[in-house]
Amino acid sequence: MSRPLLMIPGPIEFSAEVLAAMGTPTLSHVDPAFIAVFGQVLADLRPVFQAGADYQPFVLAGSGTLAMDSAVANVVEPGDRVLVVDTGYFSQRMADICRRYGAEVELLTAAPGETISAEQVAAQCDQAHYDAITMTHVDTSTGVLTDVQGMAHSARQTGALVIVDGVCATAAEEMRQQEWGVDVYLTASQKAMGVPPGLALLMVSPTALAKWRQRQTPVPSYYSDWNMWLPVMEAYEGKRPAYFATPAVNLVMALAVSVRQILAEGMDAVFARHRLLSDAVKAGITAMGLGQVPTSPAHTAHTLTCPRYPQGVDASFLPRVRAAGAILAGGLHPQIKGEYFRIGHMGQVSRNDILATLAAIETGLRQAGYAVEPGISLAAAQAVLAAA
Ligand code: PMP
Repeated sequence: MSRPLLMIPGPIEFSAEVLAAMGTPTLSHVDPAFIAVFGQVLADLRPVFQAGADYQPFVLAGSGTLAMDSAVANVVEPGDRVLVVDTGYFSQRMADICRRYGAEVELLTAAPGETISAEQVAAQCDQAHYDAITMTHVDTSTGVLTDVQGMAHSARQTGALVIVDGVCATAAEEMRQQEWGVDVYLTASQKAMGVPPGLALLMVSPTALAKWRQRQTPVPSYYSDWNMWLPVMEAYEGKRPAYFATPAVNLVMALAVSVRQILAEGMDAVFARHRLLSDAVKAGITAMGLGQVPTSPAHTAHTLTCPRYPQGVDASFLPRVRAAGAILAGGLHPQIKGEYFRIGHMGQVSRNDILATLAAIETGLRQAGYAVEPGISLAAAQAVLAAA
């Protein structure tokens, strides 16, 4: 039976091995076999995030928003000053969460498709003191990639804690958490981590743990509180049973498989593959005469592509693309929502998936009345792939 490919920016197509792990009989969360798997997953996340041995991983049942909530609830205290680098919808969500936990929030806002430079962050940090700075590695609403390394460097010089939302980037975009000085790198399972929705993942630096330990006020969230979770994570990694709230057993089993697949490929190879496939998609989009939301290739994500609709085409073409074989997403950023669509290409996505998706877009565009020479995007994409 043929079904359309899921080519949205998360959830994505998952590997057969990951889906098989989801379907295994559920173990007790304190079964020695499960404890062994969970403990190994926690240890394996450090090389995926490129974090040091003294960084603390957390794996919680919940979505990416819970990972954001957990980061802020634990390391931001009421009255803290937080600088939010705002490159779109999810940066603004982070600002909302910081406000909810009592922070004084300032935004450095980029126009949709633009980014904020490390120099702008440095200049802002010269003018005022910030306890923390947040940034979105890839904002899924604009396809903008931020310069995490540069901005983290600027922020760290001033003593601010660096919190990075990697939900649409982790295990796809280059990230060297320890080397780059990122204190909290957070993500979710359903994108390049390659596991169905339902897990929130965080990696926390010793500096961030120290700030959390020195809090003057209790963590205002019950479920997110690391006081509940740290002993549990430490126990699993030490191969001992522990309980605070039932872990998502089958998702953790699936994560174990996915993380092993990612590490077997190697992080540098994973980053390079995402760059190559992204270049191929973007070459295809350009060949069809479509522009993109990010205003420069220098700050364009490799996990998704955000093409602008050509003249005369709108979101009503997306069901046509679906019928032709690929499920895509519409626009998300409120200011430009109706002007663009989104193609996700991360995790286990293959060259064939990308070619099939471009072909489906060509079909959809032609049916919507936009003239595209059949195969033009495939030729452009294949030229990129062949040159690699
Ligand atoms: N941050 C980013 C960059 C995201 O792309 C998303 C989800 N699309 C989230 C946060 C929120 O994650 P979730 O929907 O899993 O709560």
